[in-house]
Amino acid sequence: MTTQGLLLLILLIIFVQLVVYAGVAFFRYWLSYQALKAEAGVAGPQPLPGPVAEPVSPAPAWEGWREFRVARRAYEDIAGQVCSFYLAPLDGKPLPAFLPGQFLTFRLDVAEPACGGSKSIVRCYSLSDRACPEHYRISIKRVPAGLASNHCHDHVREDAILAVKAPSGHFHLDVNGDGPVVLVAGGIGITPIFSMLSAALAARPEREIQLFYGVRDGSEMVMRARLDELAQRHANLRLHVCFSRPGPDDVQGRDYRHQGRVDIDRLRLELKIKPYQFYVCGPAPMMETLVPALADWGVAAARIHYEAFGPATVTRRAPEPEAGPALGVTFSRSGRRLDWQAGSLLELAEAGGVKVESGCRSGCCGACQTSIESGEVAYEQLPEFDVVPGSCLLCLAQPRTELVLAA
Ligand SMILES: Cc1cc2nc3c(=O)[nH]c(=O)nc-3n(C[C@H](O)[C@H](O)[C@H](O)COP(=O)(O)OP(=O)(O)OC[C@H]3O[C@@H](n4cnc5c(N)ncnc54)[C@H](O)[C@@H]3O)c2cc1C
Repeated sequence: MTTQGLLLLILLIIFVQLVVYAGVAFFRYWLSYQALKAEAGVAGPQPLPGPVAEPVSPAPAWEGWREFRVARRAYEDIAGQVCSFYLAPLDGKPLPAFLPGQFLTFRLDVAEPACGGSKSIVRCYSLSDRACPEHYRISIKRVPAGLASNHCHDHVREDAILAVKAPSGHFHLDVNGDGPVVLVAGGIGITPIFSMLSAALAARPEREIQLFYGVRDGSEMVMRARLDELAQRHANLRLHVCFSRPGPDDVQGRDYRHQGRVDIDRLRLELKIKPYQFYVCGPAPMMETLVPALADWGVAAARIHYEAFGPATVTRRAPEPEAGPALGVTFSRSGRRLDWQAGSLLELAEAGGVKVESGCRSGCCGACQTSIESGEVAYEQLPEFDVVPGSCLLCLAQPRTELVLAA
């Protein structure tokens, strides 16, 4: 065979190999696409997880309130608006582990300048790092005129004692799985997301994780050093830091990757077609648009996990209930009967001057749990708190029938 002939043969073999490789790659891609489509129920938007009964959580790690000492405080951002509190149990007993994404519930005594005294309030804060045997960590953002957040920033110093309920919540990531994960955090929503990230990489350092973290500019970014360190150590972690309004000192490529908000277009642009599990936590506007948009994109409901820090209403594709006749709600202890037409029972009670306890107002802390003496309630959004049978959470519940409540 001549040299030219040999060269042609080699080129032909290389060409055939390339065609075969490309064909196999395309076939695999097509198969995973078909599998995802089939799982998502073929074309069309998917309903989001609705208020169905979830498996009952394991019993809390301890009952009621337990005292913790603030072992350390540390600011997490340049602006000093987010402070981490490291909490060690006062009784010195072992610290139970928790699932990454769960939160703690706090009872805080805050000053009431109007009457010169103080009052007890309840708030929830996500555990903001993976479990460690010595302490829990939470990270609190100062909210303008916010009672608990300002109290913690201004008055909860090292060695302060706090009353804390055991870790709880259904928004958590399975660290034993090895499937690809998309974590989406907006603002202070990074706290449970960071806990998930840190725990997932500690359990499986090679796991693919795409983290989308949206803030306004560099001054609002928290835990930056830890995030950069994790990204350097884990080849399969990809950080997509998005600044919606970068400051004059923020440099694209160095301080952030994308300009703009974290939205569905960004996700579609950056993500390959894979069976990702999505975990989303952020402010109400982000939750209310991004979560339904993921379903519209075809992501199966079982793969979308989310938590809002307040009463965000993530739109479900259920038809809006038609306004029916008013239902009577009797608050037996206060001797009041009110007509309910819309909104939560908590709003009804407050508007009608019935004195009821409340805390997070989003179904997490259980402060507004009230016994039902007769009648039935329904939930638009499944509570994170495990409600005692025969009771309801006023902040999320609506009457389904005429109702008598022990309040
Ligand atoms: C599961 C869960 C996890 C959470 N995790 C975190 C976390 O990790 N980090 C974090 O920082 N936060 C977290 N939060 C939010 C946190 O619980 C508090 O809601 C937050 O700190 C604000 O509480 P606050 O008492 O400071 O503000 P609040 O006093 O409750 O006020 C909240 C807002 O309402 C306004 N407001 C209050 N009263 C009125 C009124 N009468 N009229 C008009 N406006 C009013 C205030 O100005 C403020 O802007 C979480 C919430 C939940 C439910």
